[in-house]
Amino acid sequence: MRILITNDDGVYSPGIAALAQVASRFGEVRIVAPDVEMSSASHSITASRPVTYKHTPLPGLDAYRVNGTPGDCVMLGTTLWEKVDVVLSGINIGANLGNAVWHSGTLAGAKQAALLGLRGIAFSAPATDREQPNFESLKPWVASVLEMLLGIPDLCLVNVNFPAKAPRGTLWTRQSLRHYDGKTVAAKDPMGRTHYWFTVVPVEATEEGTDRWAFEQGYVSMMPLSLDLTDHQALSRVQQLEAWKKLKFA
Ligand code: MN
Repeated sequence: MRILITNDDGVYSPGIAALAQVASRFGEVRIVAPDVEMSSASHSITASRPVTYKHTPLPGLDAYRVNGTPGDCVMLGTTLWEKVDVVLSGINIGANLGNAVWHSGTLAGAKQAALLGLRGIAFSAPATDREQPNFESLKPWVASVLEMLLGIPDLCLVNVNFPAKAPRGTLWTRQSLRHYDGKTVAAKDPMGRTHYWFTVVPVEATEEGTDRWAFEQGYVSMMPLSLDLTDHQALSRVQQLEAWKKLKFA
């Protein structure tokens, strides 16, 4: 099995090395990742300039860096290395739960794989200013999650989040959409000009069964995702309305 590994924290992140080391037990591994941090870059693709692909020495790993986004890395990685079976993205330094799924560059790497007809799995672990994820202690969990997910061939896209402490187990989840957790804060620069910071603030209550709930309860959250963003309920409502109008005015 050929496993391409990317992330949005950049090729030198300790998280990508940890993921690649675990993945090496499952198949042939190659890292293709952004040369600098691309967190919150979401699913952007570099269309207005060319990108480069440079071999990057990482101990014991076959790695390349790209001056682009996670999406670029997967496009280029799967073109320059044929017959990739699965793309793994992460392990991100920071959780990707609920609304963050829309902004996440980590998830975009996995999503790009799914758009190319391959399988994609994103991994994230929480971090604070003081504390980075302990990737060594997460490795056995990465291995058991990989074993489980790779064994289910029709799972095309999965977003995995590890909890802050040693996990109690794994849970299948849905996306938490109850709150938007961002906040815009105004501040002054040294010249007295106003600028703004986009921040992430904790949310209070979360619904049972969601990714954020599992995370808060200390479980590894595994959320299957679909590429189809259609609101099927809304679609059938408006189609019914259309049909009714046609009947009424026929
Ligand atoms: Mn990141």
